[in-house]
Amino acid sequence: MTAAVPHIIALEDMLAHPEYLSLREIPGLHLDLRYASDNNFIGHDLYGRFDGAYLHQQAAAQLQKAVALLAARKPDWRFRVLDALRPGRVQRVLWAKVAGTPEEIYVADPDKGSIHSFGMAIDITLDDEDGNEVDMGTPFDDFTLLAHPAHEPTMLAEGRLSQAQLANRQLLRDCLYGAGFHGIPAEWWHFDAADKHWIRQHLALVE
Ligand SMILES: [Zn+2]
Repeated sequence: MTAAVPHIIALEDMLAHPEYLSLREIPGLHLDLRYASDNNFIGHDLYGRFDGAYLHQQAAAQLQKAVALLAARKPDWRFRVLDALRPGRVQRVLWAKVAGTPEEIYVADPDKGSIHSFGMAIDITLDDEDGNEVDMGTPFDDFTLLAHPAHEPTMLAEGRLSQAQLANRQLLRDCLYGAGFHGIPAEWWHFDAADKHWIRQHLALVE
């Protein structure tokens, strides 16, 4: 039997660990980390001195491949990274905010470990040629069904999302999926770099 307790690495040790990469090393990304600013649903900076722009090397390699795929499809557009490695200590702040509310489904229980805390998930969107966020139909951390990829056909049929907005989401997915990421049903901006059960068994949770 494998142990259920995740292997833990302290944030301070992660920063110097060769298995983790700073996204500042990957050219062509616009880093706009919302939890490192006041522009998030909590309303204040949760990252402090940690700049948040890290991923496990496997996810970082896949992201580099996604950058190449986007460059082939839309040479003047680029990725805007909204969140990457999110330490367990920050995940607990988010969880405390939503626990017991309808928004609870959008935030992973810190006891199980958000895939973000393993450095294996990314929240990401697209910038157009002028550096403006592309219209995806909702902003980041929109907690309504409009943000659910699973509801896109219905929202399109009801006229609540446009063909153009869905084409933008599809371009984002094409690039990320082509690089080995996969999406989740409730957030168009969130992608996991591998199977979450495999991640929780094999990789360290950054605390
Ligand atoms: Zn996410």
